[in-house]
Amino acid sequence: MAQHFLLSSAAKSLNLATVFRMSDAEAEAKFRKLRWESTNGEPVCPECGGLDAYDCRRSNGAPRFRCRACRKDFSITNGTLFASHKLPLRAYLAAIAVFCNEVKGKSALALSRDLGTSHKATWVLLHKLREAMAGELKGRTIGGEGKVAEIDGGYFGGYVKPANNRENRRDRRFAVNQSGKRKVVVVIRERGGDTLPAVFRSEGAALSFIKSRIAKGTTVNADEAGSWDGLHGRFEMRRINHEEAYSLDGACTNMAEEFFSRMRRAEIGHHHHLAGAYLLRYAQEAAWREDNRRVPNGSQVGMVAGLALKRGQSVDFTGYWQRHLPR
Ligand SMILES: [Zn+2]
Repeated sequence: MAQHFLLSSAAKSLNLATVFRMSDAEAEAKFRKLRWESTNGEPVCPECGGLDAYDCRRSNGAPRFRCRACRKDFSITNGTLFASHKLPLRAYLAAIAVFCNEVKGKSALALSRDLGTSHKATWVLLHKLREAMAGELKGRTIGGEGKVAEIDGGYFGGYVKPANNRENRRDRRFAVNQSGKRKVVVVIRERGGDTLPAVFRSEGAALSFIKSRIAKGTTVNADEAGSWDGLHGRFEMRRINHEEAYSLDGACTNMAEEFFSRMRRAEIGHHHHLAGAYLLRYAQEAAWREDNRRVPNGSQVGMVAGLALKRGQSVDFTGYWQRHLPR
């Protein structure tokens, strides 16, 4: 049997020990190369795009540059997801390494214990990394002529605990006995290709999203749920009845279900509860992890850090985010 990718030496190109042995200068050089890839780490002014900036450090040694053209000061993280960061750059690299090495996901509580940071700060940092991963999924369309895609839905949140005594129990299948917080993650996966998740109130509400994100000419695999019937007019559909078989005549949704298996294990093993405002971010994280599962971990860290540094300031966590923090 072929060796599992994660056990191969190719998968292990970066470890935490290496990150922690990095000097401040080395961590700084690494971040500069990730941020300013096209100039091989030479600073580019975020204000005017000027290439002529000189080192103008703060008195505490923190890196800062001054643009000769517009006289503006800027740091390596200015205008990125890591803007106005509080920790040394090495700690961010370590956080990303830990986040990537845990292939099913990492809880903020566990990471805060690893790094000695507060739970809140770590929780925000992890969500920023998810936001960075989501950048790779932006505007993505799946499939094309002759390509095959799978779609499936998975429900999250809105769990209502059954009453202890039998006479007090109510039928939780009825909407009136539900919390109203239940949402469905719908995933589109191309066979041998990319993954794209989104969040809806019901599978039926996902149809226009699916139609706009799967290219014409794609053969679409789905289960027998009636919610997908409306897709027959647009795509060649293959339906699989899971009561009869998991795969029949090439029709199956196993890849879509693999995505949900990763999300469920992240939910059960790390986060305990995936729901609410950030459900989409967890789904995007799972999609990124699925798509990049065969990328060596050192390259994964570079990809996530690069996405975070190329993305503007956080849309999820600017100004008023404190209201949404976990208690
Ligand atoms: Zn400038």
